[in-house]
Amino acid sequence: MDTAQTVQRSTQQSVEKGRSQHKIPRDVETDIAYLYEVLPQLSQIFRITDKIGEGTFSSVYLAEAQMTDRSRRMFALKHLIPTSHPVRIAAELQCLTVAGGKENVMGVTYCFRKEHHVVIVMPYMEHQTFVDIVGSLSFEDVRHYIFHLLKALRHIHKFGIIHRDIKPTNFLFNRQKREYALVDFGLAQGTPDTQIELLKELLGLDNAPRSVFGEKNVNRTNSHKPGTDKVEGLLSKPKRDELIPRKIVSTKHRSVPVRIPLNQKQKAPTETQKPKPTAVNPSLTCNCYMTDRICNICLSRKQQVAPRAGTPGFRAPEVLTKCPNQGTAIDMWSAGVILLSLLSGRYPFFKASDDLIALTQIMTIRGSRETIEAAKTFGKSVVCSRELPRLDLKILCETLRGLRSWDDGLLPTEFQASHNPAEGKQDAGSPAKKHKSSLKSSAELQEMGWDKVPDDVYDLLDKLLDLNPATRINASMALQHPLFRDMTD
Ligand code: ADP
Ligand code: MG
Ligand code: ZN
Repeated sequence: MDTAQTVQRSTQQSVEKGRSQHKIPRDVETDIAYLYEVLPQLSQIFRITDKIGEGTFSSVYLAEAQMTDRSRRMFALKHLIPTSHPVRIAAELQCLTVAGGKENVMGVTYCFRKEHHVVIVMPYMEHQTFVDIVGSLSFEDVRHYIFHLLKALRHIHKFGIIHRDIKPTNFLFNRQKREYALVDFGLAQGTPDTQIELLKELLGLDNAPRSVFGEKNVNRTNSHKPGTDKVEGLLSKPKRDELIPRKIVSTKHRSVPVRIPLNQKQKAPTETQKPKPTAVNPSLTCNCYMTDRICNICLSRKQQVAPRAGTPGFRAPEVLTKCPNQGTAIDMWSAGVILLSLLSGRYPFFKASDDLIALTQIMTIRGSRETIEAAKTFGKSVVCSRELPRLDLKILCETLRGLRSWDDGLLPTEFQASHNPAEGKQDAGSPAKKHKSSLKSSAELQEMGWDKVPDDVYDLLDKLLDLNPATRINASMALQHPLFRDMTD
């Protein structure tokens, strides 16, 4: 029997075995068969039994392998979309190999490649889905959760890694074992002094002006040259490279004002409404700043070259306004949004389909004047047609959790109208239909420790959700917050 046949047979056997153990839906079965087909090496080691994650950039599978000591162990196999840029893939892997395996950061066991197919093998960590547990966590669970998330962030930030996609689905949590693991470095970027060599290389990749100036005018100084690249061996020629974050460029001219539609249902301009990019000398300065028109220079810069990643509801204000200088503080903001969910019992908290809606939702909580002020500090002009008051985070969380009555009038009536489950109509960050039925009785809340939440936690929340990245608390400082006084780290 030749190798191909052996592989085919063992693939078939693996699928059969998997199917007999627990029912695998047909389409998952097809996907597993496909994975064995594109990476035949896998079948010699793993029995793939299920698909556990499916995203835009990858599919994650559950697999079992026999170890040299004859024990069986479970692994997560992350199959990256074959169109990812090789440096992107290598950088994700390097984040895991250099920073992973400790401090609540997922480690990596191995990596397989055949042609443009790459699978990252990680130890499997059983975990709960955040949305299923967010309402049932005790205050003590929440305190531990956020402490461990901060530990992971401190660790990766030490290496100069900006994760850029901090959200509950990327922070695995096993409630029973109180285990935590930060995953998914697929969007990570390096700080200017990052210790992750390949993240430096990502910053050097010059694909930035592409969308703004058109392919032909691009002066590709540092472009990716297959063959000369350190990671050339990893992949064959990339087909697309849209996964590479745009290069950060400094701009001499002022930013385009970000106009906030107050009607949250309002959608972003459609493709045809969007200003068409034209080639403009990037060194030109403009004088449309703070006027209510946008000049041609700014129109050509509409898509200001700044890294944009992550999920709108977790993006920091400086990301939403496309500030070109983004640092590790963006992860701290996202941690703040997670804490806001944990304290209010609402997930997702900000439900935004695009960046403008997300910014509006932030203003609803943190205040429009405050947001405008903060944006000024990073060179962005935000325009808002109506003033939105800053809310008290403690009152907000207690009310949303059901510890405080909506009738005590401490939240603005406008906010009530859109967030109070009893008021019917729901808007930003309020999955209320579900929420209403899951409201706990006061006895239950008491048992879970929600009746004696220390003010410290709202102080930390306020420092994480600092609109200004320059003053936002960092992970080391956050871990020293009085909230964690008794915790050993
Ligand atoms: P993507 O880039 O597609 O979001 P992730 O790395 O975030 O990929 O993985 C997607 C999902 O797969 C995660 O949300 C998690 O549920 C699951 N997953 C990823 N890695 C592991 C792991 N090591 N153990 C268990 N589950 C994992
Ligand atoms: Mg993910
Ligand atoms: Zn202008």
